[in-house]
Amino acid sequence: MREQSAGSGRLIDAHCHIDLFDNPAHVVAEAEAAGVYTIAVTNAPSVFRHTAALVKDCRYVRAAVGLHPELVHSHGRQVEKMPPLLQETRYVGEIGLDYTTIDQAVRRAQRDVLGKILTWCAEYKDKVLTLHSRRAAADTVEAVGANYPGSVILHWFSGSSGELERAVSYGMYFSVNLSMVGSQKGQALISRMPVDRVITETDGPFVKHGPQPAKPIHTQSVIEGLATLWHTSPDEASDTVFANFKRLLRGSSVGGR
Ligand code: MN
Repeated sequence: MREQSAGSGRLIDAHCHIDLFDNPAHVVAEAEAAGVYTIAVTNAPSVFRHTAALVKDCRYVRAAVGLHPELVHSHGRQVEKMPPLLQETRYVGEIGLDYTTIDQAVRRAQRDVLGKILTWCAEYKDKVLTLHSRRAAADTVEAVGANYPGSVILHWFSGSSGELERAVSYGMYFSVNLSMVGSQKGQALISRMPVDRVITETDGPFVKHGPQPAKPIHTQSVIEGLATLWHTSPDEASDTVFANFKRLLRGSSVGGR
């Protein structure tokens, strides 16, 4: 792995569960020192302020408010705590749908919760959403729709190529991680993603970097995987991802750097 230059401010981790690491403050300090722009997602409204406090003085790390679809069956009522928290951050996640469950009532509850969150976020017009869509890509993409006012990132996308094309046509971005660049299925999907819609994530601590939970600085290894897939240099791949992230923050899905 190439050495990470301190404070470079060029790496992007668009989806990291910093609050679930053993030492979140250390992970934050390390991301700040290395200048890794990081979206610290959270899984329930009740834990948002903890992460927000952890990153309040950060230049590079931002806290997102979320309600993970796999927690909807047990914590779905917490969605009502979300509106005031949406005033405190531009970033929203982890939200979405997960159809690993075959319980139709639970799936319906997930769609209801996601629908509420999307409706609230649409009023702001500038929210950045990081969405989970395991086994539910079609419904997740359609829940957001073609003309959503805000920036939409499909995190760890694993749908079909048709679903991927639909998401692209709706202006969505994809955040890809070490597990994806290291697997045949992930590589096949990445090769179908327009280069100008790809950004990087770790999904740490769930995804590992070797034996360790992946931390924001490890997005350099995702960049190296992308460089191989794109037949370019890591520096070029990093420039592309950085330009994509800047464009996403401007709320645009149209190319041009
Ligand atoms: Mn996640």
